[in-house]
Amino acid sequence: MIPVTEPFLPPREEYIDYIHGIWERNWLTNNGPLVNRLELSLKEYLGLNHLLFVSNGTLALQLAIKSLGLKGEIITTPFSFVATTSSIVWEGCTPVFADIDPKSLNIDASKIEAAITENTSAILATHVYGNPCDVEAIQKIADKHGLKVIYDGAHAFGVELRGKSVFDYGNISICSLHATKLYHSIEGGLVITGDPALLRKMAYMRNFGFDGPESFAEMGINAKNSEFHAAMGLANLKYLPDIHEKRKLLTEHYHKMLKNVKGYTPQWHPQATMNYAYYPFVFESEKLAMKCFEALKRIEVFARRYFYPSLSSVLPYLPAKEMPVTDDIAKRVLCLPLYYDLSLEEVDLISRVILRVQNN
Ligand SMILES: *Cc1c(COP(=O)(O)O)cnc(C)c1O
Repeated sequence: MIPVTEPFLPPREEYIDYIHGIWERNWLTNNGPLVNRLELSLKEYLGLNHLLFVSNGTLALQLAIKSLGLKGEIITTPFSFVATTSSIVWEGCTPVFADIDPKSLNIDASKIEAAITENTSAILATHVYGNPCDVEAIQKIADKHGLKVIYDGAHAFGVELRGKSVFDYGNISICSLHATKLYHSIEGGLVITGDPALLRKMAYMRNFGFDGPESFAEMGINAKNSEFHAAMGLANLKYLPDIHEKRKLLTEHYHKMLKNVKGYTPQWHPQATMNYAYYPFVFESEKLAMKCFEALKRIEVFARRYFYPSLSSVLPYLPAKEMPVTDDIAKRVLCLPLYYDLSLEEVDLISRVILRVQNN
């Protein structure tokens, strides 16, 4: 069986080394020493001044929306994971979709302005598959209309844009460190901002709003993460270069094998580095995509229709809205298996099945 992704696990002993310390200190959660160490290590690794390790990427999105005090409408992409949209609704705001660019699969900046009304407070865009949005165009629109910008960078760990972390753009960026993501702490997330006052606010919000044992600075929630999760994050950190190299090799092999398949891979931002988090392929037609999907399934290879269907048509708590580009692409895209333990031979096998389906 070949799944679409498989979590990376560090050598068991290296995780257990961190766990011994937890037993010695008997400090399990609530901003413990491993959480602090992970935050410092990630700031250094990513070249960032301010970030917080939180429970997961979804709470990270909610902290971002809450701490910016957003109200009314938030313009967002229909081509993302459900949490991008549901967090907006959960925080009492209304998502307004702008269609995507068919090449990058990110929100089409040229379609944002038409969606702005007097109730718009922010833009929440996803760096889809880790590929940076057109941050310059988005910032220009935000400045012109006095809007805040949040980036859902759940897929974008380690990506650099114009020589700095992609998380360094917008008012706040978030990342997910879930087990299925490129780099993980089992469950986990990050909020990142260049604004120290905003970071302080989110730090209070992460811990019920406490600023002392009997006093509160903010309204808060429980978005803390534990020493055990931080331990996994720390243990995985040193394998990032290995993981990157392996995924790059597999990606390049897919590119070579699939170059005659009718379709395309998303166009990456020309000034950004790649993190090889996913291998998306947009087939020429839904028919070809589904034939490949089924043929792979018959040999127990599980590609994923990621993201299908469009968030603008599938959520029971939102009115359906037509998004012609997203509706079309969502039907034709498959993410092919890509993970550390996948072999080049398996990429060969998957690619040959796709070629055989196309040529039949
Ligand atoms: C995974 C993901 C999230 C949610 O992150 P969790 O850590 O699973 O809560 C949000 N947005 C996108 C685009 C994701 O892929």
